[in-house]
Amino acid sequence: MFQDTFKHQGLRQQLINLLRDKGIKDENVLKAMNKVPRHLFLDSSFEAHAYQNKAFPIGADQTISHPFTVAFQTELLQLKPGHKVLEIGTGCGYQTAVLLNLGAKVYSIERQQELFKKTQLFLPKLGYRPKRLIFGDGYKGLPKEAPFDSIIVTAGAPYVPKPLLAQIKIGGRLIIPVGDDPQIMHLYIRTSATEFKKETFGEFRFVPMLEDKN
Ligand code: SAH
Repeated sequence: MFQDTFKHQGLRQQLINLLRDKGIKDENVLKAMNKVPRHLFLDSSFEAHAYQNKAFPIGADQTISHPFTVAFQTELLQLKPGHKVLEIGTGCGYQTAVLLNLGAKVYSIERQQELFKKTQLFLPKLGYRPKRLIFGDGYKGLPKEAPFDSIIVTAGAPYVPKPLLAQIKIGGRLIIPVGDDPQIMHLYIRTSATEFKKETFGEFRFVPMLEDKN
């Protein structure tokens, strides 16, 4: 049922080469992405285009991120095997799979029930086993499992939610696109219990991180 042919693998290798040309340097990140059959995460009508550096609809008005964006955010996390990572915005689970291939223990939150259910069934079929997939609101983070080595937000946040900053370890990282359309990629490194170092990177476009007002 799930076919990953030589053709898919060849196209994937070309995509990885493109990401390297575009400035992604961490070979571990590229290797992790080269192992994920992105075409299987998309509706079959997009299969022929799955290895282009493009975003595609994944249902519930959401999109899978551009491969370059996935690579860029993942590189900034500087993951080590065994790191505990919280992802906000599970979506189709592609980014989750990349994090798992890097040996991270992944917790991921999704607020759209339809996507949450679909991805919860789909990932194990490909052999991907996150520690937990959670249906809920990413603005709150996951206090029960905190602190995390890093937190990655894959939706555009209007501001940096305080609970997320509070849930990273000292020395840990939060990578989050902030702003309206486009967003600016922000990296926060926790340097002490009360201090953070902030760096910003270029412009990116994400679907909005939605807040539950109730
Ligand atoms: N990492 C995903 C990207 C999906 S797009 C992938 O690889 O496919 C962003 C996702 O964030 C969407 O699925 C959207 O429903 C989700 N999202 C938006 N606001 C959220 C919130 N407050 N909490 C959790 N998930 C949220």
